Amino acid sequence: MKYSCNMIRDLLPLYADRVCSEESREIVAEHLSDCADCSAILRRLQCTEIEAALREEKTSILRRQAQRLRRRSALAGTVIACIFMIPILICLIVNLATGAALGWFFVVLTSLLLAASVTIVPLLVPEKKFFWSSCSALVCLLLLLGVCCLYTRGDWFLVAATAVLFAASIGIFPFVARKEPLRSLLGRKAGLISALAGTVFFVLMLLSIGGRTAAPFFGSVALAVVPPLLILAWVIFLLFRYPRCGKAVKAGTCCIVCGVFAFFAERLIYRLLGTHVSGPAFSPLIWNAATVDGNVRWLVLLGACLAGIILIVIGLVKGRRREK
Ligand SMILES: [Zn+2]
Repeated sequence: MKYSCNMIRDLLPLYADRVCSEESREIVAEHLSDCADCSAILRRLQCTEIEAALREEKTSILRRQAQRLRRRSALAGTVIACIFMIPILICLIVNLATGAALGWFFVVLTSLLLAASVTIVPLLVPEKKFFWSSCSALVCLLLLLGVCCLYTRGDWFLVAATAVLFAASIGIFPFVARKEPLRSLLGRKAGLISALAGTVFFVLMLLSIGGRTAAPFFGSVALAVVPPLLILAWVIFLLFRYPRCGKAVKAGTCCIVCGVFAFFAERLIYRLLGTHVSGPAFSPLIWNAATVDGNVRWLVLLGACLAGIILIVIGLVKGRRREK
């Protein structure tokens, strides 16, 4: 062989791409006819080139497909928006013709906006569809409630709005927070923010109900019942969120906490209301109207503690095995 393998291998990429001079081409071809190793390298080089070309082709097909899909979604969104405009225009004309001072026209308009937020918005926005759809649905629902409240001359808007916001903060927000743009914005704080927002809106909802209700004892009952329940909800949330132990240990601890809460809740609430009640008596051999309440409470407490302890032991044993 006139040339060393290393020299030929330097030329191989140019040879594979057919961009080297005729002279180099002949030298490489001559070398390849005698050298099995360099021939194998050339074959591998050609294979990776084919793979790269296929990959590029695949990405470009996917990109074209996504573009086509986006265009179709936008078209469908525009068509649905046009269909939605028909009842809006009819209502506007009828409302003006009957001289109803646009009262129920706005109710129809905001209802259709709410429908549009979950049908047209996801079709029209190119990305972060769930986020924008949820935000617009929430705003439209609040608008609809506001318009209905104004139209009926009601005073219930705050109660309804805080109830909707409370439900959204614990029912929808955790799902919205898992998707962009909130996922990268909030990270691991999403759960904590959801729990905080839930607590704030729950308290606001109670305050607005309290402000609207005529019952004078509402405030004192709410103050006695709500804090223990909120504390229980937060204890369960913090237990599941932060300790670095297995799921079984967390579930067991929650079981015990809930059992103890169910046992003491009534006494605690009565104590907060200023009444003293004695603890439930346990008479497992006597079951009648007088003892059933106490017996059930004791059995729930014992059952929850037993289940909790079993779960914790299972979790600890599993954790120990995993460490080994
Ligand atoms: Zn060679």
